[in-house]
Amino acid sequence: MPHSARRSMATVRARYTGETLQQAQAGIARGARNHGLDTCAPRQHALRAFLALAVYNRNSEGAPPRWWGAHTITAYTIHVSARFDDCVIFTDTPWNVAHYFLSRQAEEYVVPGLRAVCACLDHYRLLHVPTGAVLTIRGEGTYEDQRTCAEPCPGSIHERYLSVGNPLTAAEESELDTVPPASQSAQVLLAGLFTRTVLSAPDRSWTTGGWYYAPPGVRSAIPYQYSGSRMLWGSGDHWMLRWTGFPNAEFIASALTDETIGLAGATAEPSGNDLVVRYGDTELRLVEYHRHLLGSTPLILSKVRQE
Ligand SMILES: [Zn+2]
Repeated sequence: MPHSARRSMATVRARYTGETLQQAQAGIARGARNHGLDTCAPRQHALRAFLALAVYNRNSEGAPPRWWGAHTITAYTIHVSARFDDCVIFTDTPWNVAHYFLSRQAEEYVVPGLRAVCACLDHYRLLHVPTGAVLTIRGEGTYEDQRTCAEPCPGSIHERYLSVGNPLTAAEESELDTVPPASQSAQVLLAGLFTRTVLSAPDRSWTTGGWYYAPPGVRSAIPYQYSGSRMLWGSGDHWMLRWTGFPNAEFIASALTDETIGLAGATAEPSGNDLVVRYGDTELRLVEYHRHLLGSTPLILSKVRQE
């Protein structure tokens, strides 16, 4: 892709993701012809699918990964910048967000298998041992230099945490063994869900931002409905995301299937009271508890878009 075409693709991507132009460009390979959210090394698909389980299980309705605590990151102002071999979470509070992923030495793990490579106040580079993939948490506006962060930067306090020299603990291995296997296409779909945790249409007709209530400028079919619990679980090709309140199921489906920013090949259609997103042989059932009270997708969208 010529430089100008890559730049214009990055401009489009940034309007949806909340990235800066530079951040979005870092996620689009030279010569690529797509937005890059799903174009990554296989180990990144595996890591992002795993992170989806970490983030999309919460409170009493959640599957066991709710105990890892990583779901709390959706209460922070974040946006995800998907790169070919890195997944960067940008936030104005990197220290706070990182501590939902990083385990301190001599403490119980937080998210099993993550190890600190570099831990500075404004950026944290983590390695996920089971997949070998990198997760980065970075402060907004900080200078990105991938070369230096492959090794600890000067002043890094990574040794306060479980770092790359620490093997998996027995507790971590036990917890990782309980994570159900995902097929290859399920990994891509769940990874796409994680990458789209905070995504908004430029016209605000849908958004996945605000997993507790609708963000400003976005109409919800069920205003002020607090999302207390959520669950993402399944196995092989069959997965379910279940929650209460915002976002509307149609918004999640839009993020995954939008013709501009969606996962290429993913489709969505109603199934009873739910929406089902399909990708390859995989299906992800979207179950929002109140959807049956509101009726059909056309009714919900007309309510969201009225006025
Ligand atoms: Zn660093």
